[in-house]
Amino acid sequence: MGFDQFGIISFTGTTKAEQFVEFLKNNELRGTVCKECGAKFFPPRSDCAVCLSDEMDWFPITGEGTVVTFTKANFAPAGFEKDVPYALAVAEFADGIKVFGRLDKNLSDDEIKVGMKVKVRAVDLGDDRISYELTA
Ligand SMILES: [Zn+2]
Repeated sequence: MGFDQFGIISFTGTTKAEQFVEFLKNNELRGTVCKECGAKFFPPRSDCAVCLSDEMDWFPITGEGTVVTFTKANFAPAGFEKDVPYALAVAEFADGIKVFGRLDKNLSDDEIKVGMKVKVRAVDLGDDRISYELTA
């Protein structure tokens, strides 16, 4: 069990951050926080980029974020061809944590705008794969 279950394209199967996928199965998106200096990271890092400590803990990304930018993909990279069109966004959550991800396909173009409030949720992709998306 590890990152080989995350997303459509396989990621490295085993990393120090592989618990990420287990949290996602419980509908929790988590980043990592440095036990030494308190710096928070998303995507999760297993070493602190600020003080270089490897003493990291997990924290859940909860509540509402605010979309700071988005784009619509009409042409997709390998593996994503049948998903287009889809929207990608960056949303800022508490403590300045920025989450990059797809927007819920059910959102209309009229609804998607900078400043809109979003939450994260896990998405079962089928075939024993999981990801997350941003939804209103
Ligand atoms: Zn640190």
